[in-house]
Amino acid sequence: MADRLRVLLVEDEESFIDALTIGLEREGFDVVSAADGQLAMEKFAPDRFDIVLLDLMLPKMSGLDVCRAIRNLSDVPIIVVSAKGEEVDAVLMLEIGADDYVTKPYRLRELVARMRAVLRRHETANTPTATAMAVIEVNPVRLEIDTRRCFVRGEEIKLRKKEFALLTLLLENVGRVMTREVLIDRIWGSDYHGDTKTLDVHIKRLRTLVEESPKEPVVITTVRGVGYRYERPSA
Ligand code: CA
Repeated sequence: MADRLRVLLVEDEESFIDALTIGLEREGFDVVSAADGQLAMEKFAPDRFDIVLLDLMLPKMSGLDVCRAIRNLSDVPIIVVSAKGEEVDAVLMLEIGADDYVTKPYRLRELVARMRAVLRRHETANTPTATAMAVIEVNPVRLEIDTRRCFVRGEEIKLRKKEFALLTLLLENVGRVMTREVLIDRIWGSDYHGDTKTLDVHIKRLRTLVEESPKEPVVITTVRGVGYRYERPSA
């Protein structure tokens, strides 16, 4: 990585801010810090940062709300930082769009390793594949690959980057069972060793968008013990 990566450090404890800023700058990052949630949103702008480190317990605006607000603006990687003893709901973290989380106290080396892994996955997900078609349409979904737009029953819906990638992969393989391993490998990368619930959370969210009754899915079905399949629409 030639250029220095830009980090938005959202953290209210001064001792942490100072130590992290020094540590991260030494590791090749440029650090901008924000001591509360409102300041974070004032400083944040799409394309201004390469990654966000987000403390959960913050004055003025909670880390969860900051995470949601950033996600509405951008796909920038977000690592949530929680304090010791704070209950972290991994599924909730993923649902609000965090890429990973760490718990205080952590070692700088561990944090930097997580940051680099998240950045790598983000870069891979953003590299277009040579075989990408301009439009894939399998009822009820229409995907415009180049512009990353998704329509369900004619209505445009907003998808996050990973959701779009996952739905594209399922549509490209309509009628075929996609194993969990293949889906995780293709969407999150072979170096992903995180929670395997991540895939299920993403499938669940896609179902709420494409299924008429998400609890009885007929578009994206589960193949028990194997994976998922985007069903060929009946003629
Ligand atoms: Ca805090």
